[in-house]
Amino acid sequence: MQTPKPNEVLQSFAAKHGVNVLNREFAELMDSLDPLRGCRERFAVPKRGTLPGADPVVAEVDKECIYLCGNSLGLKPVKADLYIQQQLDKWAKMGVEMHFEEPLPAAKCDSYLREELGRLVGADPSSVCLMNGLTVNLHLLLLSFYQPTQTRFKILLEGHAFPSDRYAMRSQAELRGFDPNEAVLEIHPREGESTLRTEDILKVIKEQGSSIAVVCLSGVQYYTGQKFDMETITKAAREEGCLVGWDIAHAVGNVRLELDKWGVDFACWCTYKYLNSGPGCIGGAYVNKRHERRDAPHLKGWWSNKESTRFQMRDGCDTAPGVDGFRLCNPPPILVALVKASLEIFDEVGMEKILDKQFLLTGYLELLLKAHFSIGDTDVPSTTVITPEDVTERGSQLSLEFSYPLHQVHKELQKRGVVCDVRLPNAMRITPAPLYNSFQDVHQFITILQDVFSICKTEAA
Ligand SMILES: *Cc1c(COP(=O)(O)O)cnc(C)c1O
Repeated sequence: MQTPKPNEVLQSFAAKHGVNVLNREFAELMDSLDPLRGCRERFAVPKRGTLPGADPVVAEVDKECIYLCGNSLGLKPVKADLYIQQQLDKWAKMGVEMHFEEPLPAAKCDSYLREELGRLVGADPSSVCLMNGLTVNLHLLLLSFYQPTQTRFKILLEGHAFPSDRYAMRSQAELRGFDPNEAVLEIHPREGESTLRTEDILKVIKEQGSSIAVVCLSGVQYYTGQKFDMETITKAAREEGCLVGWDIAHAVGNVRLELDKWGVDFACWCTYKYLNSGPGCIGGAYVNKRHERRDAPHLKGWWSNKESTRFQMRDGCDTAPGVDGFRLCNPPPILVALVKASLEIFDEVGMEKILDKQFLLTGYLELLLKAHFSIGDTDVPSTTVITPEDVTERGSQLSLEFSYPLHQVHKELQKRGVVCDVRLPNAMRITPAPLYNSFQDVHQFITILQDVFSICKTEAA
């Protein structure tokens, strides 16, 4: 079945309502019909004037900022204050007794949001848990799942992967006595292309599969915004006898995930990007049920024990099955409270509606970028979208490259109350998040970008 393209849907919708798709009126119309329009008020949207980079002369300081950075740090759910305060109050009122008292009893809080997390990643609730941070979880999982032999010792990841993942994988190879330059295999896009082709990934898996121990790419690439075909890649890698892990930091809360169905072996993620749970908040991990009784060793702590024997504090206790056995420490209820404030919004809204809006909202951003800053026209500053055009290969983020200096464009946007980020060497990441961004945010961003370009042009002259 041919999926319609967002620009076609938007154009025909505009035509039906007799408005020009490029005008602000259209953004207002889309917002008025948006089933998620009420969600924005459940988040703290910063005012332009309180942003450190805003210039009071041009920023319209009392207005809400144009926050397009949910790929890096999602906005704070309003309920977060209440849920954290509840934990602080409980601590003040009952001290250590808070460990077993609602809400979110400290000693059990890491088991509280399993249902919600399971729904987000497509997993049985018992296969997911909250613990540590992302890079720690990646290490803990690799320590068990990466069992290199002399013939099968490679880890496959995408080129230009998030640096922390690359460091983690290279150090894992070193820890096992391998040269990371040989053991960590990185696939790069073809000459002249910005993103990877699935066929090229599959070819490497087919050709080198017998020497690959673990395939561990990111579900959505942080730099390009490309979503990989996780199902096809997982299947192909497993057929070659590789174990398959996914870093879903940029995928969770952003794209449809079916970890169980796809047969993924393990996965890990952070909760502060699309999951809006606050900087450095507790991470998540997934281990497929087929590994519940795995022989491969993993690191243990008291929290790896089954709950029933955890407090016996002696040797010989049963390790909890699956992902639970990877836990080491007692969990932080203040952080879990933050995740709860966010996940209850996701759970109420559901990924289906989020993805429906993403299709239109990111599509609208793409449409306006193309209409105003087309490539090839020498008089107009060019903006290239390096994220795939095919909606099945992306989430909310579009990564842009400009013909003007990236940092100058970024600084001028910041002055005007736009929040987005740049990643070296060349990309600006723009992410309208369906839960709190509006079509008018996108329209205003484009208008401001036009101003910024005219300033860059004047300064270049
Ligand atoms: C955000 C992100 C990280 C960050 O790791 P932390 O351990 O949370 O600091 C790592 N890897 C990827 C792919 C990311 O997107």
